[in-house]
Amino acid sequence: MYRKILAVMCAIYFFATSLTAYASMPERKIGILKGVSQVNLQVSEPCIMINPETKEKIDNIEPNKPFTIDFSSMKFNVMEIRGTINLRSTINGKKYFGGVRINKNSNSLTVINLAPVEEYLRGVLPEEMPPYFSLEALKAQAVAARSFTLKNKNLHQSEGFDLCATTHCQVYEGVSSISGITDKAVAETSGMTLCFNGSVILATFHTDSGGMTESNANVWGTEVPYLQPAEELAKKTQVWNVKVDKEVFAKKMGADFGELRSITLSNLVIGQAANDRTTSGRVKTALIVGSKKSVQLSGIDLRSKFSLPSTLLNIKFQGGEVIFEGYGRGHGVGMSQCGAEAYSKSGWTYDRILNHYYKGTELKKLY
Ligand SMILES: [Zn+2]
Repeated sequence: MYRKILAVMCAIYFFATSLTAYASMPERKIGILKGVSQVNLQVSEPCIMINPETKEKIDNIEPNKPFTIDFSSMKFNVMEIRGTINLRSTINGKKYFGGVRINKNSNSLTVINLAPVEEYLRGVLPEEMPPYFSLEALKAQAVAARSFTLKNKNLHQSEGFDLCATTHCQVYEGVSSISGITDKAVAETSGMTLCFNGSVILATFHTDSGGMTESNANVWGTEVPYLQPAEELAKKTQVWNVKVDKEVFAKKMGADFGELRSITLSNLVIGQAANDRTTSGRVKTALIVGSKKSVQLSGIDLRSKFSLPSTLLNIKFQGGEVIFEGYGRGHGVGMSQCGAEAYSKSGWTYDRILNHYYKGTELKKLY
């Protein structure tokens, strides 16, 4: 439901986007279907179908009347259906905000939703943060999602659209997922975007830091001035443990590792660095000693090898098992969603929450 933003996007885009003031609400192309031979469509108001390459009108489309676009009978390489801001388009039975674009590829169709950004966010926010969270936390999330959306035009350029509708970018379920409070959070922050030094920021977020957030540099290797460790109201939240049989653990260290003898890792104190821990206390490295060789593993490698919820953890032995005991969920960089909820409940407004997790940033209304 709510989770990530992927490591892939981390620092690559940091310097990439310069700040644009928009004359009106921008639009994003959201990839809905790929590799299909036909698609069933319906629109909510009278529309025109155009060829966007030549601007020629192809046809008039009547409202509330289903029709099918078929690969073999489509005469243009690309067509778009557009209407007013109130247009809703149903694509294979699912209703979306805005119009539709269809790209004809060499042997299939790509179906794209042409979504005005603020409308698109109404379908994203309930998927990215639980709608039962409080309004100021939801507003902070709306600004983070908007910043992500505006920064990432053309993230899927090779496929012909800007963003996909899955966890890879942001989950977007169209009109079906909207709720009163998430709509209110989007409307009350309309156009508000986080900027740093004249650019829209990389507004990464995660479920729960466990007690302190982490710097971008310690997770994805690049120093980002506004993605630095931030304190939380509560420490040791979302306690978890993962048990791994010692033999299974040893096998994961490689065929030439032998038997697991010991693991060296200092004790976790949240907010206290050590040689083997970051400022927040997350595992930097752990020494894994086997009967045939030793392995120095990063916290991120440990998390990935054993599918751990976070790297804010201790490791201990008990019986024949290695036990990971930790806190929080996610990579820990940027805004903690549960932390934002805690600050919201303590009376903080969304702008204060955002400034806490994205240090030195400015809130700007871009349209
Ligand atoms: Zn994507």
